[in-house]
Amino acid sequence: MQRRSEKHLCEGMTLKINGRRVWERIEELGRIGATEEGGVSRLAFSQEDRQATELVIEWMQAAGLQVRRDAAGNVFGRRPGEEAGPLVMTGSHLDSVASGGRFDGVLGVILALECLQVLEDNGCKTRLPIEMAVFAGEEGSRFPGCLLGSMAVTGLLPPDYPYQVRDAQGILLADALRQAGLEPERFGEAKRRGEDIKVFLEAHIEQASVLEQAGKPVGIVSAIAGPHQYHVTIRGRSGHAGATPMQGRADPMVAAAQVIQKVEELALTSKAGTRGTVGFLQAFPGGHNVIPAQVDFTIDWRGISEDERDAIAQETLDYLAQICKERGLTWTAEVTAHTAPVQIQPQVLEVLQTTAQRLGLDYHVLPSWAAHDAMIMSQICPVGMIFVRSQGGLSHCPEEFSTLEDITQGGDLLLHALLALAEPLV
Ligand SMILES: [Zn+2]
Repeated sequence: MQRRSEKHLCEGMTLKINGRRVWERIEELGRIGATEEGGVSRLAFSQEDRQATELVIEWMQAAGLQVRRDAAGNVFGRRPGEEAGPLVMTGSHLDSVASGGRFDGVLGVILALECLQVLEDNGCKTRLPIEMAVFAGEEGSRFPGCLLGSMAVTGLLPPDYPYQVRDAQGILLADALRQAGLEPERFGEAKRRGEDIKVFLEAHIEQASVLEQAGKPVGIVSAIAGPHQYHVTIRGRSGHAGATPMQGRADPMVAAAQVIQKVEELALTSKAGTRGTVGFLQAFPGGHNVIPAQVDFTIDWRGISEDERDAIAQETLDYLAQICKERGLTWTAEVTAHTAPVQIQPQVLEVLQTTAQRLGLDYHVLPSWAAHDAMIMSQICPVGMIFVRSQGGLSHCPEEFSTLEDITQGGDLLLHALLALAEPLV
């Protein structure tokens, strides 16, 4: 390997992010949509979300980036390289769940901005351009379906998608986009070509406590679990809770209870650590003294091993079919999400690990059990993820917290990984 001189600041590992600036920006964004409990509510395309995005655009422009917004509301800020492309991309999202935390998504956006600003301030030139991305509508807490912005970028949504979905108030996505100054009729133009993107890196809080338990400030993600979700409907025969004898009932709630237990049992005995959750259940007509005629519920499977995850999901459906047959019930199961798990490419892992080692960081390699924009971006380009330790593993709540020290280490890792991938020129 060629030995490099350490004279220039852009070489070696001397360049550092400004953790204090990162912290102040996270705090400033945390005031937009702040809740009394100390968290934030910034639902996609809401006034708060637009305000946060506009503030970040101001910072991006001040950092000398070439800023543009696509028709899905994603914002990109480019720092040109000596060559036109392919580019190295990094970023995350600014929207939150209702009553969420101040770090989820924001961290990856502000660290991306910080890295580009540090390169700019130090006059570091790269062969390839680096672009930061602020993806719109990641959380899916207003319109159905999450990861909206990155799905538009990867072409996973039809061009007329904004005319297909409404929020709980009945507002059409197209109208929400228009209110945000966007042109929904051009939604399809948000799609980008994978060959133009060399790699996408996302820094994110861990949202679990693996790093905390391992005593490590940062993590390098080895795989991203893919969700496989169903909406299940079981139909039976309604009746009076008192007058109807127990024998001969066709009660869909009891069948649902058995299936829910099966989900837990299969997940607990899974060899690949597949996780299963029933997070929604509704009975019709729904009265304390009525045997339900129908029960609807969801099943959410997450797995690093696609084969195992899908096999367990099928085993659950077979069990559901058997139970319904025995009890004289009918059922349907509609697949609402089916995404393959992402295995991070060895070359990207290698760059992140080597960079962490050269920085002397104490890191841990772990899978991500939550979905992220990086999971979607992997459909068109190689991806990598950096995790920052979450205090108490808490996330999607006002208590969400990461320390300035941990964030700074994650930021330095992102900075030098970006630099290595974009190839510094000195
Ligand atoms: Zn997030």
